Amino acid sequence: MDKMTAKQKRHKSSKKEKCYDPNDPTLRFVDGDDDMDFLCEDYKSRRALMSCGHSVTPMSLTNWCRYLLDKGESSFVCGQTGCNAVWPFDEVCKMALLTPEEIHYFEDTLFHRVAKDYLDVKSCPGCKSSVIRTELDNLRVCCTICSADKDRTYEFCWQCLKEWRRPSQCTDRCANDGCFNKSLEVLRTCPGAVFRDVKGVAGCPSVRACPTCGFLVEHNKAFCKSLVCPRCKVKFCFVCLKLFEDCLKSSPPYDPCSTGVAPRQTSIPVWRK
Ligand SMILES: [Zn+2]
Ligand SMILES: [Zn+2]
Ligand SMILES: [Zn+2]
Ligand SMILES: [Zn+2]
Ligand SMILES: [Zn+2]
Repeated sequence: MDKMTAKQKRHKSSKKEKCYDPNDPTLRFVDGDDDMDFLCEDYKSRRALMSCGHSVTPMSLTNWCRYLLDKGESSFVCGQTGCNAVWPFDEVCKMALLTPEEIHYFEDTLFHRVAKDYLDVKSCPGCKSSVIRTELDNLRVCCTICSADKDRTYEFCWQCLKEWRRPSQCTDRCANDGCFNKSLEVLRTCPGAVFRDVKGVAGCPSVRACPTCGFLVEHNKAFCKSLVCPRCKVKFCFVCLKLFEDCLKSSPPYDPCSTGVAPRQTSIPVWRK
């Protein structure tokens, strides 16, 4: 487990300690150590059990979850070594007796993190506010803040991040100079992949867009055709671009794929969730 940092210590609420209502029948109280009290604060509240069986007090749980958030996590994992339980946010709210301000802070931080990881979020070139793209295959995106400000529809290009000037017939770029899809460029120009023990892979490029989510992945294992996408965690065949389990149905892992080497990709798959 990571040690809490000085920054985290400063975060500790200076407000008065949150304590459980000892008569709350929905809590399972225990005696003994507070398993989440890594700073040895020895909180006065009674200890209660989380769903994973580890004991907490409202303050120790608040501090631990805040620490996780501040260090960039997007889920609340029990801090006890060997316990990998992930607590639902509802449970954290209830057991940490989160105040409305704390809930707001947690939700906000989580939302932005999850949005950044899983949705497409970019800064509008006009007002720098975060915009989430709803039509994942449309480069032309409207900023509602700028539109309201300027009293006209303000649209910008998701790819070159400049104002959208005039219509473009292409679907992979706008009409601004220098607007091109860097990912497609990489897919088009990357060198060939090097495999050691796999047969029938001549011409396979070293970078592929994940067939499920479109994330660009570089081939780094010379030994095997399969690769787990770091973003969507789906395992696919780097050579034929089928899901690996489908590829395996028609060809052994070190033999040529039944449908051969998939050509270089010329579009990026869009993740439909
Ligand atoms: Zn636990
Ligand atoms: Zn804007
Ligand atoms: Zn553009
Ligand atoms: Zn993926
Ligand atoms: Zn394959």
